[in-house]
Amino acid sequence: MLKGKSAVITGSTSGIGLGVAKALAANGADIMLNGFGDAEEIEEIRASLERDCGVRALYNGADMTKPDHITAMIAEAEESFGKVDILVNNAGIQHVSPIEDFPIEKWNAIIAINLSSSFHTIRAAFPGMKARKFGRIIQIASAHALVASPFKSAYVAAKHGVLGLAKVTALEGAEHGVTCNAICPGYVKTPLVEKQIPDTAKARGMTEEEVVQKVILAAQPTKKFVSVEDVAALAVFLAGPNSGSITGAAYQIDGGWVAQ
Ligand code: NAD
Repeated sequence: MLKGKSAVITGSTSGIGLGVAKALAANGADIMLNGFGDAEEIEEIRASLERDCGVRALYNGADMTKPDHITAMIAEAEESFGKVDILVNNAGIQHVSPIEDFPIEKWNAIIAINLSSSFHTIRAAFPGMKARKFGRIIQIASAHALVASPFKSAYVAAKHGVLGLAKVTALEGAEHGVTCNAICPGYVKTPLVEKQIPDTAKARGMTEEEVVQKVILAAQPTKKFVSVEDVAALAVFLAGPNSGSITGAAYQIDGGWVAQ
């Protein structure tokens, strides 16, 4: 379905981003991986995607807090693949704490990685997409782009911003064949969620098991985590040939969370 297309997926060495990269590659797209992690493990992921999917897979270690790294990453993808057709803005971190205790450096890092990096990737990829009259930009936002939870000030602010940026990008790309949509997952069991359980327990005065049952799964009427594979399949659809009239949309994939 995506043969001949090329994609950049930020934060794709783990969790949702890795799942999206695998699904895009399985559908024939060349991919550029990005994110942190053990160099040998990342090389194994990259090589296995080339081997198993018969696509080109590259890795660029750009730090999403650094605009010059981001510009260089998009330039490398354009040079290596000849173009960037699909851009998935996925890199993200979390910090859980009441506003008055929220460390300023955590606020700055979350805004930079979860929000500003999307502006920098879109800014760099947009001219080529517009010139070729084709582009699919997918923002991995969150249910927290639509509703808030206490103790996640920076994350909720960044994710609302990510959705706002998706809408502006959709309007600016609309006459140029470039779409931009946001995927808004509920809780997906990845390292990002696993790491926040102890801090949420502290902020709410609960045990870690209570956090899973009474905070995380209580938010989702299905009482189940959303799977990485389901999020990835939605990204493949939004990247594909039948989604040209879908733009500026927020796709909830949250077990019913924000329907409440
Ligand atoms: P994860 O921790 O498994 O993956 C995060 C990825 O981002 C990793 O590849 C990491 O190396 C990369 N990253 C972090 N800082 C970076 C930086 N400075 N530069 C480059 N890469 C960096 O987390 P995940 O749960 O897969 O999260 C992916 C996205 O999905 C995030 O934007 C997150 O907000 C969003 N999301 C997650 C959930 C969930 O429940 N897990 C729900 C809704 C939205």
